[in-house]
Amino acid sequence: MSSNPRNVDVVVVGAGLAGLTAADELTRAGYTVIVLEGRDRIGGRVRDAEIAGVAVDAGATWVAPHHTALRELASRLDCQLVPQFNDGKGVISFGGSRKVEGLFAMAPWTVLDITRIMNALQALADKLPVSEPWKHPDAVSLDSVSLGEWAAVSNWALKNTGRFLTMFSLVHWGAPPEAVSLFNALRYIRNIGGVDVMLKVEGGDQQDRLLGTTHGLTRKFAATIGAEINLNSPVVRIETTGDRALVQTVRGAFEARYVIVSASPAHRATIEFSPPLPEQHYGLSRSWKLGALSKAFVAYDHPFWRDEGLSGSAVTDNGVGFLTFDVSPAPDGPGILMVFCDGRAFDGKDPSERRQLVLNQLEHLYGERAKQVIDYTDFAWGNDVFAAGGPNPAVEPKGWTNFGPFLKEPVGLVHWAGTETADEFSGTMNGAILSGRRAAHDVKIRLGL
Ligand SMILES: Cc1cc2nc3c(=O)[nH]c(=O)nc-3n(C[C@H](O)[C@H](O)[C@H](O)COP(=O)(O)OP(=O)(O)OC[C@H]3O[C@@H](n4cnc5c(N)ncnc54)[C@H](O)[C@@H]3O)c2cc1C
Repeated sequence: MSSNPRNVDVVVVGAGLAGLTAADELTRAGYTVIVLEGRDRIGGRVRDAEIAGVAVDAGATWVAPHHTALRELASRLDCQLVPQFNDGKGVISFGGSRKVEGLFAMAPWTVLDITRIMNALQALADKLPVSEPWKHPDAVSLDSVSLGEWAAVSNWALKNTGRFLTMFSLVHWGAPPEAVSLFNALRYIRNIGGVDVMLKVEGGDQQDRLLGTTHGLTRKFAATIGAEINLNSPVVRIETTGDRALVQTVRGAFEARYVIVSASPAHRATIEFSPPLPEQHYGLSRSWKLGALSKAFVAYDHPFWRDEGLSGSAVTDNGVGFLTFDVSPAPDGPGILMVFCDGRAFDGKDPSERRQLVLNQLEHLYGERAKQVIDYTDFAWGNDVFAAGGPNPAVEPKGWTNFGPFLKEPVGLVHWAGTETADEFSGTMNGAILSGRRAAHDVKIRLGL
């Protein structure tokens, strides 16, 4: 540790979208800021990968029409949004039987039952307050069961509805419905804009993506910020004495008037606090672990499924992958399918086995032609060296009502940002930006501006 720590107004821990936004807001207001990032790169849960010479999003991808904070940032940085390709029919394969989307792809009673369950979730979610949802009179009972138990035991969901709900839960919380509190699902549905928005491409959460990747936008953003960003600097200890905070990294120390920590709640626990945080903060970290959602990409010479009238969207329950999307850069090639994989079944395999499992599934979904692969890559988020998991916390039953009130409550000189702390669009890049703005605003008030 350096004997003469550098002095700034605010130290921001984490260079994801939340931390970068907080740093941007504070430097624009004239304060001195240092951003300390544990990894060797910025972006956090936003990162890119390369396949067949094309940059793709290994982390966050889509931007909904109502994600105005992210859209404003993209426009300020001259980053273009392009629509998610969605022409043609999807493929559905539940229980090993492959069907092309259409009138009889799912039995009418399955469609009715899925609609019944999703409507019931929406009706419950509509009753929750957006802010401080744990104050709802039924919060404790809604937070005492898992989403899976509620659907199967209390609502007699059919087997195929359970399969659909598993896909819904894996993609949003990186965990099966049995591992996620019903209250967590309802709060997410409420704060993101509803079940319909979560499922839709046009007009929904999957409407647009950034040309040249979201990581490209984040890099551009970081380059415009007036704050120094120190990579490879995991914060290991924050010690508060009087009106100063000493922030220690493995490479040196910094003194600040305030600290904004933007690590996800689970990863706050990697930092030692002196004096210790109120005890519930440790419970928060333990019960708000990130789920495990990973991504694989498979490239072909061109998007051959489009020739067959298929959109490249598929949902399946027969292997490690459960959802595919067409993320090809152009119709004339290369054609790229992105496959969402359940980290629990995927991350522990070695890379060649992961590849084979994904290719077998694509052959089942898209036929023999899917064997003519020109490139493959994947990113197993559960194996990420610095902050494992994604995309959002799979909050377990009682996790919200016990620990939700501690999510963003400042402790002394320490404030909290990060998408989980946003009242709106929490779990998205848009929520991360809003949380960074809110934390910066709160700190500016304390600094006297
Ligand atoms: C596979 C996947 C798909 C997703 N898809 C979408 C999507 O399509 N659309 C969408 O809007 N969102 C999506 N998301 C969610 C989105 O990526 C996140 O909501 C958002 O990026 C979170 O930003 P953040 O700044 O709050 O947190 P993070 O990005 O997690 O940033 C926190 C940063 O803090 C750093 N950190 C942690 N601890 C320390 C420490 N002790 N010292 C120093 N640094 C530390 C971490 O390394 C990290 O860089 C997806 C996420 C994943 C993983």
